[in-house]
Amino acid sequence: MIPTWLQNDYQSLVTLGANQQLHHGLLLLGNHGVGSFDLAQQVAFDLLCLTNAMQACGHCKACLLNQSQTHPDYLLIEPDKETISVEQVRAISDFFVTSASYQGNKVVIIKNAESLTLSASNALLKTLEEPNKSRYLILLANNSAALPATILSRCFKKQLTVEHQQAKSFIAGLGIDINAPWVSAFLDKPNTLALWQQQDRITVIESLYAMAMKNDIHACHKQLLELFNQNPDYIDIFVQFYAQKLQSELLGNTLDIKRYQEKSQALLSFADKFKEVKGLNLSLQLNQLLKKLSYL
Ligand SMILES: [Zn+2]
Repeated sequence: MIPTWLQNDYQSLVTLGANQQLHHGLLLLGNHGVGSFDLAQQVAFDLLCLTNAMQACGHCKACLLNQSQTHPDYLLIEPDKETISVEQVRAISDFFVTSASYQGNKVVIIKNAESLTLSASNALLKTLEEPNKSRYLILLANNSAALPATILSRCFKKQLTVEHQQAKSFIAGLGIDINAPWVSAFLDKPNTLALWQQQDRITVIESLYAMAMKNDIHACHKQLLELFNQNPDYIDIFVQFYAQKLQSELLGNTLDIKRYQEKSQALLSFADKFKEVKGLNLSLQLNQLLKKLSYL
């Protein structure tokens, strides 16, 4: 389903599609949690519908196959572990050159396009430079800075954003208190909240926020370590909450700029190190971070 805040973007793509003007390479830019995959998938289903009306009818053979996620003319590419390899991109060219099973279009969606390796990006250029009729490639990425300029210049780009009032209604509809202080950090990615709600993770997020706000953060080592080991995604969320706290302390003049910078730096390098260094001693690193945050 297309979220309310993406309806206008969706309609403009539908109009282009209906007028046979949809670009063969479409790049949707937006935060994780903005709903870009839902949008991409709906456009793909519209393109594949046998009515050719650029609107999935929901009843034809193609629509039924899409609903059961078995349409042979639709391909979804996701990072294998952390990257999208050149072999995965070659599979796209092979997919595009063979004829469509249902006479119409063929569509590929690439999730997390920033995970394309350099050689995979180069291989993808060929597909973008020599478009085949009735073949559509939809790339999803967080931000354009992480993509090679050569890819960017060959795609039709669409920046997806969230209108905060619409996001608030949506979040309230999930049964989450929109006045809870931690919620404001997620107004740009409401779908992330919906996912957490589904996975019963809201109380964990609330406890991460509560810990970030504590003055004796050092005492939370054991609890944080347990959560970070459970799910590394919690690290970024905690870092985001703590950065928010540092900012408000700086603005409230309870933290001077030098200590603000030192603490922010410690936070960011903790998060980066975790992503870059395999086999990191998380307990030790966390201990060092919490010491810096408490005593700097
Ligand atoms: Zn249909």
